[in-house]
Amino acid sequence: MMDFLSQCRAVVGDAHVLDTAAGMAPFLTDQRGRHTGKALAVLRPGTVEQVAALVRACARHRVAVVPQGGNTGLVLGSVPDGSGTQVLLSLARLNRVRQVDAVNRTMTVDAGCILQHIQEAAAAEGCLFPLSLAAEGSCTIGGNLATNAGGTAVLRYGNTRELCLGLEVVTPQGEIWSGLRGLRKDNTGYDLRDLFIGAEGTLGIITGAVLKLYPQPKASITALAALPSPAAALQLLVLMQDRCGASLTGFELMSRYCLQLVAEQFPQLPKPFAAPHAQYVLLELSSSESEQHAVGLLEQAIGAALDSGVIDDAVVATSVSQSAALWQVREHIPLAQARAGKNIKHDISLPVSRIAEFIAVTGPKLDAAFPGCQLVCFGHLGDGNLHYNVAPPTGVSNEDFLLNQDKVNRVVYDSVEAFGGSISAEHGIGALKREELARYKSPVELNMMRAIKAALDPLGIMNPGKIL
Ligand SMILES: Cc1cc2nc3c(=O)[nH]c(=O)nc-3n(C[C@H](O)[C@H](O)[C@H](O)COP(=O)(O)OP(=O)(O)OC[C@H]3O[C@@H](n4cnc5c(N)ncnc54)[C@H](O)[C@@H]3O)c2cc1C
Repeated sequence: MMDFLSQCRAVVGDAHVLDTAAGMAPFLTDQRGRHTGKALAVLRPGTVEQVAALVRACARHRVAVVPQGGNTGLVLGSVPDGSGTQVLLSLARLNRVRQVDAVNRTMTVDAGCILQHIQEAAAAEGCLFPLSLAAEGSCTIGGNLATNAGGTAVLRYGNTRELCLGLEVVTPQGEIWSGLRGLRKDNTGYDLRDLFIGAEGTLGIITGAVLKLYPQPKASITALAALPSPAAALQLLVLMQDRCGASLTGFELMSRYCLQLVAEQFPQLPKPFAAPHAQYVLLELSSSESEQHAVGLLEQAIGAALDSGVIDDAVVATSVSQSAALWQVREHIPLAQARAGKNIKHDISLPVSRIAEFIAVTGPKLDAAFPGCQLVCFGHLGDGNLHYNVAPPTGVSNEDFLLNQDKVNRVVYDSVEAFGGSISAEHGIGALKREELARYKSPVELNMMRAIKAALDPLGIMNPGKIL
């Protein structure tokens, strides 16, 4: 292995091959502190050619490679296993915005660019790169692509997959595939780009991407609606989509318990309603005309929803700053949960039309199995994506309740399957949900996935143990 490491040093220089415990430590623990892996070394290439040369060395020596961007992933995909035989390849030094083409509305970037920097570079050219998530200050576009990240703007702009026109990839053989085409139409055979997006680093290393840009909206305005049930929230979604079309850019469901948690843990935040309601929807409209236009459109739509009895009450922000205050309530749910204690988390998706029924059926099943358990149910309703988290009943410790993880997962995921949903909406599979994937994907699907993996990575050196 000394031979291997000296080849790596010859490629990137001594300073960028870290093999001491202290040097490697910042890279080896996952985002939520659930797993600390061991690595042979951490490699920090600064160019695409260096990535390719390192991967060729890995292939020669049969050393497995774990690609890492911002290490904000939530399914243990970006950290090595406990063997100490894998190398972690950090893309952090590949962080240049290569080109912005405001007429083609595209930008070409290195994979290690931080998402927030990409948003800022687009804005500097008067454009919008719409991918947005709470980890945007530290996650990288390569990680976003590798996990096909979702976020808060999927309803209008789609997942990361929909925001990417071309990729540059280092293959498991250490070749560079330059597919950096800024084309919106390109039907020339199999779409290789789509294979690497969402592959979580198991098929190759993404080193660059061509991203889609959009016009900047002039203003985005939010409202918080109070409703009697998830079924009413679905009626509101249809009403808003019919009236506002593509102007509807956010539609987030939150249960009463979610807002109660936020009020308990963050009493300084605004309390929009005097009395509690069963459900709430935070909705956002964007206008390409003006703030006034957005407020007017939103007030009319909310008025129609009140008149037809779909919603019980609503608070409409009348400025961009009031909108930000309403978003704060939504963004504080995960933080309030973390302060309140541990819970068993699920990032699931369902056909939008079946969400109300799923919630109505699954809650009682959980309550029958774990009497008094608390559901922290919120999410991107417009995308059919729920964060469906199960917290312990009062009086049961977090540690005791977490022992039930497998049983809780079975109730939730069996119900997800029965409703035609997915056990991972936006976070991916990683090492965390690998066994669950094997349980819920059909043998036909699993066999096709294994065949693709074997064809592209016959040595099995690309992020082994993740997904499959
Ligand atoms: C507070 C918080 C909020 C979040 N909100 C959301 C959300 O709303 N929506 C959502 O989808 N996710 C969310 N996430 C999860 C996470 O931020 C995303 O999965 C993000 O896309 C990961 O990017 P990263 O650069 O940190 O990737 P990493 O965590 O470093 O890696 C993730 C996976 O991608 C692989 N990978 C990384 N870079 C490359 C590359 N260049 N080539 C090939 N493979 C690579 C890794 O091997 C790993 O399997 C959130 C996380 C946090 C902590």
